[in-house]
Amino acid sequence: LRNQVRTHIARGFVSARQSLSTLALIEQSNGTIAGSTLNALTAAKELGGDVTALVAGSKAADVAAQVAKIKGIAAVLTASSPAYDHGLPENYADLVAAATKEGGFTHVVAPSSAFGKNVLPRVSALLDATQISDITKIESEDTFVRPIYAGNAIETVKSKDPIKLLTVRASAFPAVELEGGSASVSDAKDPASEPQSEWLSEELTKSERPDLGGAKKVVSGGRGLKNKENFDKIMFPLADALGAAVGASRAAVDSGFADNSLQVGQTGKVVAPELYIAVGISGAIQHLAGMKDSKVIAAINKDADAPIFEVADVGLVADLFDAVPELTEKVKA
Ligand code: FAD
Repeated sequence: LRNQVRTHIARGFVSARQSLSTLALIEQSNGTIAGSTLNALTAAKELGGDVTALVAGSKAADVAAQVAKIKGIAAVLTASSPAYDHGLPENYADLVAAATKEGGFTHVVAPSSAFGKNVLPRVSALLDATQISDITKIESEDTFVRPIYAGNAIETVKSKDPIKLLTVRASAFPAVELEGGSASVSDAKDPASEPQSEWLSEELTKSERPDLGGAKKVVSGGRGLKNKENFDKIMFPLADALGAAVGASRAAVDSGFADNSLQVGQTGKVVAPELYIAVGISGAIQHLAGMKDSKVIAAINKDADAPIFEVADVGLVADLFDAVPELTEKVKA
């Protein structure tokens, strides 16, 4: 009887400890880990169980060596195949589903980036588990907080699914440090399915400026700039003087003042830099959904009643065509 009790206690202990284990998807491009993945890893660690990272692609071994050094990562699984380059979701989803089943993971975590939003819904279908998107807080292993209605309401979701699939809003979690760990690295069970899609080519907007998603400072221009020529002439010198990334409202993007990749808001990028300067932007809720968590918000608008001033820490009621060049000169000086 004593042995049975011991066995029971030992099993109970082991299953309690093993009941929570997380598979974290590592988004990478050509050997470089995407910034938002480092934030998602913090969320993965906050869940409390062991974290296993999954790295796939032809440079998987190089990336795995970097990921293994992150403190708090227990193990790294790799799938070294060009089929997973560029995070092609049709190919990736089978791999993630197989790795989840094989490892008996209770949680799968990905950044709420184009990659995560592409891959995880497919995994959700394959595993018949609900995806919980864009989480901003972890209440417990089954309860998560996420914004809905473009950030106008905050929802707390409790999941009863045995496997919880989570995408993580990067701006809500700090990035992990790339040091302090020594995880083991091994091969993932690679289903090596027939690739369902093939990468042909990409045309990237090249910029010397910081990436909008991870920049500490962002200057965004809106319809108030009136045309592309003004946008380029007014916004880029300010960005360069501050070392900031350039963003834009949807009205500015739709009017052709700025590239689509610069759009901030509900249907654009969600940013939370230390400083966000909105120039000639009225502050529609769909725009606020993408920037209202910024640490300091400054707004320049000629209309004192513009809603942007309701969220701004610093507001300047002025004509942007006078105020911004003057500000740029002062920053430079
Ligand atoms: P406007 O609202 O036209 O504001 C221009 C501002 O410039 C005004 O406040 C004006 O006072 C000021 N101004 C004009 N001239 C000057 C001057 N000389 N000096 C100083 N100030 C001046 N919008 C987004 O931004 N991002 C999104 O992701 C997004 N997603 C959307 C999704 C949906 C489903 C919908 C319906 C809308 C979405 N929108 C989004 C659009 C949004 O509702 C607004 O239309 C848009 O944000 C307005 O952009 P804006 O502030 O540049 O333009």
